[in-house]
Amino acid sequence: MNRVVVVGSANLDLGVGVRQLPRPGETVLGSDVVASPGGKGANQAVAARRLGADAVLVAALGGDRFGADLRVALAGEGLPPDHVVTYDDCATGIALIVVDADGENTIVVSSGANARLDAAALAGLPDLLGSADLLVLQLEIPLDTCLAAARHARRAGARVLLNAAPLPPAGAPALAELLREVDVLVVNEGEAAELGGDATALRHRGPAACVITLGARGAVSADATGTRTHRPFRVDAVDTTGAGDTFCGALAAALAEGAELDEAVRRGCAAGALATTRMGAQSAMPMAAELDSFLV
Ligand code: ATP
Repeated sequence: MNRVVVVGSANLDLGVGVRQLPRPGETVLGSDVVASPGGKGANQAVAARRLGADAVLVAALGGDRFGADLRVALAGEGLPPDHVVTYDDCATGIALIVVDADGENTIVVSSGANARLDAAALAGLPDLLGSADLLVLQLEIPLDTCLAAARHARRAGARVLLNAAPLPPAGAPALAELLREVDVLVVNEGEAAELGGDATALRHRGPAACVITLGARGAVSADATGTRTHRPFRVDAVDTTGAGDTFCGALAAALAEGAELDEAVRRGCAAGALATTRMGAQSAMPMAAELDSFLV
């Protein structure tokens, strides 16, 4: 059994290159727009699926052309469409990404249907979790939905992995509550600093295990057995977009296969590194065979 249920966002990423990011009030000309599937939920489900997990995505799309296109893209990745709801009166989530010549970017996310993914949309979740090892959450959908999903997982005996990104404004009470329902917390360095602690301190907020990803410097993890550093895999990085989502998907797939935390983090680091060697988010995610041969 290696089922991973992801409850999270699905967006269309619209990327455009510019020489310099526009200042407020300024108009600049950009390159052709590149449209690609994104959203942290969909990204992590695709990463886990490519690495062999029986991944299922619970998400919401709008009743527009973008939603229809994303539905086709998800099906093409082998993610069953049955748990992706369409709200006809809503727009699909869109991320508007502007990147300048130095790789600096600005991103505006219009949540659209993702903001509508409420606890009522989780009606089928108890059944899905009955045969699942792991529920995977991020914070691009309402916090209350994440909390409801985590509680369903608890009742079903499935573990909960939370990638706490993007963080809500400091002090959100629902986040403190959610952390108490989490088994494995994953954050990057910036998020760890905002949450106010190292991996050991973050465990005291509820999660049995915590992993902090450190970009090109690898990762650190802490669980009941202690704290460990995980060396990075040296690669020629060309685009780090989606490295964090690839890491989380790979970590989830390995944990669902029964790997110990150390081995799962090692696979996450390797998958994240491989994802930086190609452009894009989902388009850069490795398949199981590539990851396995990279790790030999
Ligand atoms: P993003 O938001 O850009 O997707 P993130 O900040 O959530 O990423 P990172 O810590 O940048 O996550 O990356 C996740 C993992 O991917 C790291 O722990 C590391 O193992 C791997 N990784 C990322 N960048 C590099 C790199 N330049 N070289 C090697 N490995 C990398």
